[in-house]
Amino acid sequence: MRPFHLALAAAAMAAACAQPTLEQQIVNDAAAALGGRDKVLAVKSIVIEGDGMNGNLGQDMTMDATSQAFQLSGYKRAIDVAAGRQRVEQTRTPNFAYFQGQQAQKQVLGVDGDVAYNVAPDGKPARAAQAAAKDRRVEIYHHPLTIVRAALDPAARLANPRDANGQRAVDVTTAGGLTFTLAIDKTTKLPTRVVSMTDNTNLGDVAIETSFADYQDVSGLKLPARLTTKTDKYTTAEIRASKQIVDGETGDLAAPQAAASAPAITAPPPATVTAEELAKGVWFLAGQTHHSVLAEFGDHLVLIESPQNDTRALAVIAKARELRPGKPLTQVVNTHHHFDHSGGLRAAVSEGLAVITQSANVAFYKDAMTRSHTIVPDALAKNAKPLTVEGVDEEKTLQDSAMTINLYHIAGSPHADTLLMAYFPKQRLLVEADVFSPASAVQPYAANLIENIKKHNLQVDRIVPIHGTVVPFSELVKTQVKATN
Ligand SMILES: [Zn+2]
Repeated sequence: MRPFHLALAAAAMAAACAQPTLEQQIVNDAAAALGGRDKVLAVKSIVIEGDGMNGNLGQDMTMDATSQAFQLSGYKRAIDVAAGRQRVEQTRTPNFAYFQGQQAQKQVLGVDGDVAYNVAPDGKPARAAQAAAKDRRVEIYHHPLTIVRAALDPAARLANPRDANGQRAVDVTTAGGLTFTLAIDKTTKLPTRVVSMTDNTNLGDVAIETSFADYQDVSGLKLPARLTTKTDKYTTAEIRASKQIVDGETGDLAAPQAAASAPAITAPPPATVTAEELAKGVWFLAGQTHHSVLAEFGDHLVLIESPQNDTRALAVIAKARELRPGKPLTQVVNTHHHFDHSGGLRAAVSEGLAVITQSANVAFYKDAMTRSHTIVPDALAKNAKPLTVEGVDEEKTLQDSAMTINLYHIAGSPHADTLLMAYFPKQRLLVEADVFSPASAVQPYAANLIENIKKHNLQVDRIVPIHGTVVPFSELVKTQVKATN
């Protein structure tokens, strides 16, 4: 042979003998176990039908309670792999006293490239926030076929091959720049889980983990029939597939025109805060969906509720300081742990407020205030302050010569085990969240609220709700007349 041919032969031998890297080997093993590299790369669409459950993250009886769930029926998840489209349709039925009532509710949750959308039960589509679009684009890869297919792409970056919990794991950055950890079973080589990180207003940087089980044969591929998703340590979804189709009919997965043409939502809307003086030294700080109440003591101010997120909480705190600039705002009373009511607590702490809450929340808030928020740095991440928190078991009085507030645990409420209500004895006002929202069509928690009011012999003239408008006490009583008709 001439040298030229020798060189070619040597190159060919080197290529044939080139060992895949450890990280490539994990992906190759997974592809082989799923049915082979070529079959995985050829997949165009996946449809999963079945049933299951959704957890009630951040809205259960306590932060760690797991009794509440939505049972899912008519579940259908359709993925157009190449186009980056996914649509989930499901009907969910609460197994607990839900604020919207017990009826089944149809949901449609989609993503089409950069556009996330929801379709309301009445058929009206609406664009969802860009943060939802990002999470749903990521969710497309929470499936063995899509993540392995993406990891096989030469433009993907693989790193950090390792043993993890008795499995092999590798970090995958897709060609589109999304990052995941893929783990496979050491024996079967089938994918066991996919993990990605996202921002949660209350929990900060959180892992979303989908684990795969009960693999079955579908069109020459192996697909999991059970998919379990956790956010942090909380189970948020468990899906049991009864029918799976590869490269079949997906239906129309394009974003509805009304959603696609709507402007992108990149941040919560600016907060609007109105101030109404309900009595001397008591203001209703309302506006939008979640309200607060400000109370003026002799030498300081106390806020009831810093809800939702930084945007709302910081605006409410600014309004309180604007109303009485001469007195320091020192404390915030939190009505309960539900995420929409505790989402502004980190902002309140960053502003130097001490937190008063029902005792069952104390451990959760201690944890929440120290969690890292690097994906979306919030007010507390930018301005770290220690948490001062005081737990209230059954009752506590905040009092000086100018103001008295009695705080009571709302015992036995079917809404949450962590509720406090605030009673102003002189002004005969009662502040409460969620257990009586005046305009609501159903009032599943009102009877228990009335029991608690009677138990403490409170003389209430007006209810000051965190949701809705201030109403006379008689409006609360009326809910029971309706209920017995
Ligand atoms: Zn609630």
